[in-house]
Amino acid sequence: MGYEKSIDAFGEAYRVIPGGVDSPVRAFASVGGTPLFIERGEGGYIYDIDGNRYIDYVQSWGPLIFGHCDKDIEAAVIEAAKRGLSFGAPTTLETRLAEEIVSLFDGIDKVRFVSSGTEAVMSALRLARGYTGRDDIIKFTGCYHGHSDSLLVQAGSGAATFGNPSSPGVPADLTKHTLLAQYNNIQSVAKCFEQSVNGVACVIIEPIAGNMGLVPATEEFLTQLRALCDEHGTLLIFDEVMSGFRACLKGAQGITAVKPDMVTFGKVIGGGMPVGAFGAGAKIMAHLSPEGPVYQAGTLSGNPVAMAAGLAAVTKLKHNPSHYVTLGNRAKALMKGFKSAANSVSIALETDVRGSMFGFFFSDTPISNFEEALQNDTETFAKFHRGMLDRGIYLACSAYETGFISTQTTDAMIEETIRAAYIVLQEIAESKQS
Ligand SMILES: *Cc1c(COP(=O)(O)O)cnc(C)c1O
Repeated sequence: MGYEKSIDAFGEAYRVIPGGVDSPVRAFASVGGTPLFIERGEGGYIYDIDGNRYIDYVQSWGPLIFGHCDKDIEAAVIEAAKRGLSFGAPTTLETRLAEEIVSLFDGIDKVRFVSSGTEAVMSALRLARGYTGRDDIIKFTGCYHGHSDSLLVQAGSGAATFGNPSSPGVPADLTKHTLLAQYNNIQSVAKCFEQSVNGVACVIIEPIAGNMGLVPATEEFLTQLRALCDEHGTLLIFDEVMSGFRACLKGAQGITAVKPDMVTFGKVIGGGMPVGAFGAGAKIMAHLSPEGPVYQAGTLSGNPVAMAAGLAAVTKLKHNPSHYVTLGNRAKALMKGFKSAANSVSIALETDVRGSMFGFFFSDTPISNFEEALQNDTETFAKFHRGMLDRGIYLACSAYETGFISTQTTDAMIEETIRAAYIVLQEIAESKQS
């Protein structure tokens, strides 16, 4: 496979865009080589500007659960765009999409739409702080909640890949209210509660962590977390920007019995367009401007074209819940294949699946938190990533990301991917011996 055009395009981009990319994890920094420049997508495939075709397991980092150029989403977007791109005034599309989310998620009476997951979580935190009158928040190492200041502390994937636990430009005065606990470790959360002098506004968690690789929280841990929050009058926020409509129709809520006080959304609910949202019970949401005093706003919030795309995606999912069974089965088949391929050449691999989300670590022990995830063999991952790419398989370019199956990822594509994995892992094993 030739990558010449992508290499040239990256050089050109590099001159006018920092690092040549608009989001760091796209840069291929941890796996080597240069990022592919994409010309177009079609169903389960993407095509780069050199004309190479890849089976796409990144799917724009999660949003594209129906693959590329889904006909229904495309039609909804074109129809909305023809009526006007933005009005800065209410449209009925916002109400329809809000109704879909409210009907599916227990405890959510109202949602507010924004333009990204980052914005959704940032706003949810402000609301939690405004509602409780407290400043401190608890987050978990390895969980990513977007790049807003108080959350850019030990934030998984992009940050982990680049070895920046936080970032210059984030005042310590802001992160001093962010207490860090360890995922799946309730004692560490209890300790944070003890350390907080003036009380904790909220605990925010990815109930199915997808930004340190795929690392789900245990039911026991979530139950204990709920109890601790109740004991302290602290809000529990599930960040389901990734897992919402991905792990299953109701996100983590379809898997765990634990109910959060607030949920943040993004990715799938925009159908590929920039959308985020946060929701909670009516009592909490009543504190949000203009009903209440907690300010939050956006010129393009609830953008009609983005709402139309999201509504098309979410409605389709709601009408075809069996999609999740198919997606889950394919994800499981893929991970089973990777594991067999690795085992056949005595390479240790840990795998996990939640609905259409899959994850694998080159590790010989199970991973339950970020500290354990950091022990994985990233060198082998980098070789695996490169080898698969050269065989037309597009996997996320970091060992700390989750992979995705779309409804357009066919059984044949899964089989082709597994065959490639056997060859690549064999090569890796041979190069280790010599
Ligand atoms: C992707 C993601 C975000 C940030 O969303 P953006 O749209 O990239 O700003 C926040 N939380 C989680 C769990 C995510 O996966």
